[in-house]
Amino acid sequence: MNKLLTQEQLDLVDLVAEFGKNEVDPVSAECDRSGEFPWEVYRKAFDMGLHMMDIPYELGGAGIDFETSLILTEELAKYDAGFATSVGAVGLAAKAVIMGRNPELVKKFADIVLPGKFAAFCLTEPNAGSDASATKTTAVLDGDEWVLNGRKCFITNGGVSGVYIVFAMTDPAKGTRGISAFLVESDREGLSSGKEEDKMGIRLSNTSDVVLENVRVPKENLIGKEGMGFPIAMLTLDRARPVAAAAAVGIAQRAIDECVAYMKQRKTFGRPIAKHQALQFKLADMEISCEVARQYVRHVARLVDADKPYSEEAAICKTFASDAAMKITVEAVQIFAGYGYSREYPVEKLMRDAKIFQIFEGTNEIQRMVIAGQVLK
Ligand SMILES: Cc1cc2nc3c(=O)[nH]c(=O)nc-3n(C[C@H](O)[C@H](O)[C@H](O)COP(=O)(O)OP(=O)(O)OC[C@H]3O[C@@H](n4cnc5c(N)ncnc54)[C@H](O)[C@@H]3O)c2cc1C
Repeated sequence: MNKLLTQEQLDLVDLVAEFGKNEVDPVSAECDRSGEFPWEVYRKAFDMGLHMMDIPYELGGAGIDFETSLILTEELAKYDAGFATSVGAVGLAAKAVIMGRNPELVKKFADIVLPGKFAAFCLTEPNAGSDASATKTTAVLDGDEWVLNGRKCFITNGGVSGVYIVFAMTDPAKGTRGISAFLVESDREGLSSGKEEDKMGIRLSNTSDVVLENVRVPKENLIGKEGMGFPIAMLTLDRARPVAAAAAVGIAQRAIDECVAYMKQRKTFGRPIAKHQALQFKLADMEISCEVARQYVRHVARLVDADKPYSEEAAICKTFASDAAMKITVEAVQIFAGYGYSREYPVEKLMRDAKIFQIFEGTNEIQRMVIAGQVLK
């Protein structure tokens, strides 16, 4: 519920809702079926500045507070969570560059994405998912240039970006302390996108391998200092988790909205199914989980905006919101029953879209390890 939002926030929500209704909704089901990437709609989202919410105002970004950006992410995800994921991934990459605290490099990044290009955060590899310390991509200094080699996989916007944030081993003997982060422009020789994933859900988002074959970048494209890649990646993921959680809440809210409309018009035993208490209780449980997830996401956002520590809370909100979205969308399919199982109705897509939020930005098993670690400390 939006009872505490300011008028400015409500106006922005209306703007995103209008965009979602008029531009994203009409292409969502068809692109989900075909796997087509809706370039034109992304272009319009970029014209609105939805991809620059995390970029500081001084550099041409929207520079809005984190809480407002999450409220808008939730709204966008109601129309399509894959679309919200690809837009959000630009912010994820931006955060990694900002963490490096090099204003010139942040400007370089902003100059690429602000005119309307995608960006990608490239950490995962075929044998380094949950365990980033197993990174095999290498970066070797050769004169004034770093030379990168390796293959990243499952990269959001991997096949469509203008700039890639790549994590690579600069000193394998040091384990995670030997990982560094680099800004790699898409036109660097040797950079290509490999296999594109044919995914279960969030099919409006591009997910691809990113291949680096002797890719040379200037020394100054190192983000932060040599060996700082792992903390940069972890801190960036901390910031990304509330964003994923907000999108999961958007999916959950859409599922509830669809159920409310359906329950009022579908009749069994001579009355709308909304009159059956068994379904009312299901709906109440869905609403409880969705609302608690939403308010906890906003709590984490306020911690971020107040510059307080939030790592454990970020793990809690991502885990809770994604588990809630999964449960709520499964229940939505149950309420629609046979029609819920059919692709003609919207809820099976919501269920498929929800699943990824338990997997990316660190799986929920890994999040539970993080939370338990904090509790036991
Ligand atoms: C659609 C999509 C988009 C993505 N976008 C990006 C992106 O933009 N950038 C990027 O870098 N990555 C991205 N990823 C990768 C994603 O973050 C990884 O898939 C995720 O971190 C898990 O890694 P994995 O798939 O290799 O699973 P694994 O690490 O192989 O895990 C397998 C299973 O083991 C469990 N597990 C692993 N270790 C432990 C442990 N110690 N204790 C208990 N259980 C454990 C996991 O929870 C999981 O259930 C994306 C993935 C997908 C599918």
